[in-house]
Amino acid sequence: MRVSALLLVTLRDDPAEAEIPSHKLLLRGGYIRRVASGIYAYLPLMWRVLRKVSAIVRQEMDAAGALETLLPQLQPAELWQRSGRWSGYTAGEGIMFHLQDRQDRELGLGPTHEEVITALAADLLRSYRQLPVNLYQIQTKFRDEIRPRFGLMRGREFIMKDAYSFHASAEDLGRGYAAMDQAYRRIFSRCGLQAVAVQADSGAIGGSASQEFMVTAEAGEDLILSSADGSYAANQERAESLAAEPVPLENTAAGEVETPGQTTIDALVEAQGWHASQLVKVILLVARFEQGRQQALLISLRGDQQLNEVKLSNWLNQQHGQAWGALLGIEPLEAKHVAAENAPAFGYLGPDLSDAVLQGSKKLESSFLRLADPTALDLPLFICGANRPNAHRVAASWSEAGMATPQRVELRAALPGDRCCHDPSQQLQARRGIEVGHIFQLGLKYSKALGATFANEQGQDAPLWMGCYGIGVSRLAQAAVEQHHDSAGMVWPVPIAPFEVVIVIASSKESQQVELAEALYGQLQQAGVDVLLDDRNERAGVKFKDAELIGIPWRLVVGRGAASGQVELVERCSGDKQEGPHQELVAQLLETLQQQRQGL
Ligand code: ATP
Ligand code: MG
Repeated sequence: MRVSALLLVTLRDDPAEAEIPSHKLLLRGGYIRRVASGIYAYLPLMWRVLRKVSAIVRQEMDAAGALETLLPQLQPAELWQRSGRWSGYTAGEGIMFHLQDRQDRELGLGPTHEEVITALAADLLRSYRQLPVNLYQIQTKFRDEIRPRFGLMRGREFIMKDAYSFHASAEDLGRGYAAMDQAYRRIFSRCGLQAVAVQADSGAIGGSASQEFMVTAEAGEDLILSSADGSYAANQERAESLAAEPVPLENTAAGEVETPGQTTIDALVEAQGWHASQLVKVILLVARFEQGRQQALLISLRGDQQLNEVKLSNWLNQQHGQAWGALLGIEPLEAKHVAAENAPAFGYLGPDLSDAVLQGSKKLESSFLRLADPTALDLPLFICGANRPNAHRVAASWSEAGMATPQRVELRAALPGDRCCHDPSQQLQARRGIEVGHIFQLGLKYSKALGATFANEQGQDAPLWMGCYGIGVSRLAQAAVEQHHDSAGMVWPVPIAPFEVVIVIASSKESQQVELAEALYGQLQQAGVDVLLDDRNERAGVKFKDAELIGIPWRLVVGRGAASGQVELVERCSGDKQEGPHQELVAQLLETLQQQRQGL
């Protein structure tokens, strides 16, 4: 390809719409353009990257025995109603774009395909003899994300590889899951990415075991907590840890203390000299459920701990999803939720806050659902708000009169510095990560809901065991830039670079340079190299800058030395330069590329 024909439009300055390096660089390098919030056009350079990533994904999925397919993006509501996910995905904070057709039938634009594939499996899979089977597709997905951002990282329309496997037994599902784990490790390593596998929450997709693959990068939206010995790594949403021992509250008489203006744990610690672990803090929330219930929650946590909202949501769904329908969302309980005369003393709340607060509220249930994390419940004595402004109670206890007993639920978030469960001598360390892949053991959830059964070896009808496996293809491509760039631009790993080599003609007015460059261009094309020829009538400096910005791994410069057959070879990632006879340098380049294409 000739740069003159590439429609290369690069920008000198950082676009205002971008915050993180990879997003800035993809815009500046002419890889993507924003069409609307979370909606991007993939320009020719980007499309070449995406096709290379997809090709690697296809090779590894095919090698693992999976079958490529293509499922519809328009999905009937009825399938999602049968799995019980329609309202959760369309109402409240649901992320499914949905619409009505001309016959008033409801449809959703696929954010994921468990329902469609399970309905197909119910139709196609009859006998254990057809199992196991794994079907995959590479396709545009739609999600009306609450906060689309960072370019392709969190789009509302993006490319995903999703795969679904069906098995005759839990053991066989385990084998299929392990095979996908291995395939994923090969995919990310072949794409030139450093990715770590972490334990993950299963989220709204459901199921039991699940593991995410994270590309480690500062700009990552996820927090990874891991042990120094590498034997434990989890997404913070899911991570477990041992909390620090609390500092005992000793020799303190029960009573109230005036604490004017001290509405945060930090302020109390500072003003009163208490330790955060001696306090119980109370968080008021409102949980909205599918069937209309709006339940006020009173959550008690130890003062030095934080709420893990994912754990809370999972617990609410598990405990109450059956009776109240799926959880639609959780928000802070504010003064607007309650009658004006009952407003609680925010900043001074205690676990014994009375249900009277909720009286007269038009929407909320009349009593709190009271939950407490074990670290708070296990404090024999503690300090908490006095439920009146500017006062705290000292040496309160759970056993005293008037203290409603909350349910004991693990709700605290694991934090960096916490002791590891598997080895308390190690502490959890934090890194940021970009989730590029996620594998799940779904179990029987969808096959039961959608009646996908097969005849087992004993001739009995049994539900299919399922797994599902996603890779964010477009997110992965941007994550590669996030992991590989410098101040001059992108630095693509060879296996997914849009072009492997760019030949730069230093001066297009010099016919010897043009001739040699054209000859080398032909030679490299012959040798199967993805080569770009910068034949533009621009200054050499402009061409070098563009080549660095768009991150082509190798640059072959044909300049003054052309007369004597000399060229310069520059490696983008190291900046190393070599000058020499073109025959030698091209031979060496071809050999190196052979290895680099394999991700070596
Ligand atoms: P996240 O937690 O980042 O919202 P998710 O857990 O909802 O993602 P999955 O349902 O596991 O995503 O989807 C499989 C893969 O698709 C993810 O691992 C991620 O790489 C990619 N992906 C998910 N949402 C987006 C998005 N909005 N834009 C780009 N890629 C995405
Ligand atoms: Mg995920």
